[in-house]
Amino acid sequence: MPQTPAVQDYLKAIYHLRQLTGKVGTTQLARHLSVAPASATDMVKKLAEANLVEHRPYRGIDLTEMGEREALRVIRHHRLIETFLAEVLEVPWDRVHEEAERLEHVISEDLEQRMDRLLGYPSTDPHGAPIPSADLRIRLPENVEPLSRFAESVTSWPCAATVVQVSDHDPALLRTYATLGVRPAVEFDLLDSGGRALTLQVGNATEPVQLARDAADYVLVRPKQHAATRSSTV
Ligand SMILES: [Zn+2]
Repeated sequence: MPQTPAVQDYLKAIYHLRQLTGKVGTTQLARHLSVAPASATDMVKKLAEANLVEHRPYRGIDLTEMGEREALRVIRHHRLIETFLAEVLEVPWDRVHEEAERLEHVISEDLEQRMDRLLGYPSTDPHGAPIPSADLRIRLPENVEPLSRFAESVTSWPCAATVVQVSDHDPALLRTYATLGVRPAVEFDLLDSGGRALTLQVGNATEPVQLARDAADYVLVRPKQHAATRSSTV
């Protein structure tokens, strides 16, 4: 089966959805890719015939080993391109995702290797997401949770954590994070989580900042203190 951009987008979407929800359905996949459910059903059938996915009744759609490798190959392209655009071409971090969505389908393996070498073999992209290695292994961050869930579990204040990853799905949200100083590897103290916003003291900033609760869903953090010593609601 030729690796068209559509095929690559489906494999990538199944990979991401599987991480979020465990089980992937055709309707969910169609919604994620903004296509008609019938188109998604058709494509999943073709992907199954090409041995890239398995689709079993009641068990949803899953990637085969070959399908997962293809998904990781595109994700590696995507994240290396984002890193290259941000670090070398100084494209703002809220604009690299859209560019990478197109370029991920067209760069050659040779170009990818050259970018990787020039960047010094980075392990994460500008949003903190792990970049699969050249042999297509991925190391997912450990001991992380969404900032919103972390805030719910805190029982004594302030509570310290480090930003590990932010979602790149919404450019406006990325601009908000940038304004507040919320970036991967930045340490912060959570001062208060009352009301509709969280109050954070970020890095060396002079003043605390407020982050809306919805925006906190898309920030992955690593608490300094082990979760077991905090509230048992985690
Ligand atoms: Zn991206």
